[in-house]
Amino acid sequence: MSKAPNVHDAEPIPAEARAEIERLLQTGDLFRYNAPADAPVSLLEREFAELMGVKYALAVASCSAALFLSLKALDLPRGARVMIPAFTFAAVPSSIVHADCVPVLCEVGEDYRIDIKDFEAKLTGVDAVMVSHMRGHTSDMDAIMALAAQAGVPVVEDAAHSLGTTWHGRKIGTLGRIGCFSFQSYKLVNAGEGGILISDDPDLIARAVIMSGAYEHAWKKHLPHGDNTGELKAAFDRWQNKLPLYNQRLSNLSAAVIRPQLPKVAERVIRGRANHDHVAAILNDSPWMQVPAKLAPEDRAPDSIQFNLVGMDTGQRAAFAEAAAAEGVKVQIFGMSQDNARAFWNWHFLPEQVELPRTRAMLMNACDVRLPARLTREDCDLVAGILTRAAETAMTPNRAFGT
Ligand SMILES: *Cc1c(COP(=O)(O)O)cnc(C)c1O
Repeated sequence: MSKAPNVHDAEPIPAEARAEIERLLQTGDLFRYNAPADAPVSLLEREFAELMGVKYALAVASCSAALFLSLKALDLPRGARVMIPAFTFAAVPSSIVHADCVPVLCEVGEDYRIDIKDFEAKLTGVDAVMVSHMRGHTSDMDAIMALAAQAGVPVVEDAAHSLGTTWHGRKIGTLGRIGCFSFQSYKLVNAGEGGILISDDPDLIARAVIMSGAYEHAWKKHLPHGDNTGELKAAFDRWQNKLPLYNQRLSNLSAAVIRPQLPKVAERVIRGRANHDHVAAILNDSPWMQVPAKLAPEDRAPDSIQFNLVGMDTGQRAAFAEAAAAEGVKVQIFGMSQDNARAFWNWHFLPEQVELPRTRAMLMNACDVRLPARLTREDCDLVAGILTRAAETAMTPNRAFGT
């Protein structure tokens, strides 16, 4: 039997990053506002905005920092209610709590996407929506954007895991007022840590820039090529000295690691999608596993695969994870691993505890396996084979119970 591929490691850092990192180490020029112009972080922002086709980008310490600053940029009052899908990472409701707001959890269906009926019902009485495209699954953004517009509620996109995903050909992260991305290691672009937020709104970006730690007149380094006359300059003038500094800046060293990866995004997207769809087709041939279909307008950029176990009881689900682990593939069943940060019932820090039966049922059967873009077709076949055999083992009693 062949050995399982290593799905744990992140994307490697391109060799092109080395010279710039060496230069930064030699000069000690790690602070983004040190150089008079064109610091690596500023260049990253320019390149990312261009890649996404938006006016402005602000690089920060993490996607969580970007989400927090988005809420602060929207100027939501203390206690404002912010709706999120109940299937997301604990950092997302945490960013809302950090911004002195209250997370409102919305049901998520078996296909990992926002339950639009529950979304619509809960939209009344909500001050903002943070659409977390968890694991890169895009919910019905046509319905969400239309309902939010009708209700006059701003939408922030948590696109941490959606770099390269499109909806009707439009880039995810550009549909809402602000889009937030992550450069943490297990995302498509790996800098260990880091995040970026994008927007076309000069006031939102000016507020976010200042609060991210552009003290005094450091914001001048965000003006496009020293243009001191445009709408962004006017927005900075409006907010000068009026906002707290939360210091969530990104280091030049991180920008140097990120920049050479941006030209590789398109290829990683294609390879990640091909890997995902190949494994999905094999898993769907098993009676015990089901990979939910994407929505029609969505083109995905996955670096992991999620699937639901079908017809397994608790013991069989545990036996499945155990059999896969024995062959070297770590499967996380979201609702079954202890203290899982993606299971809403473990978010005891929420100011309001709620029960979401649909999302809970989904989490008890939903599995998560990393499937990085760097895997070969052979690697993918090995992973798919191990999962298929593990399901058979779990569902064949004499094998599951260790004869
Ligand atoms: C990773 C992730 C985050 C948090 O990103 P950080 O950069 O680690 O703060 C938020 N939301 C989703 C959906 C994520 O996958």
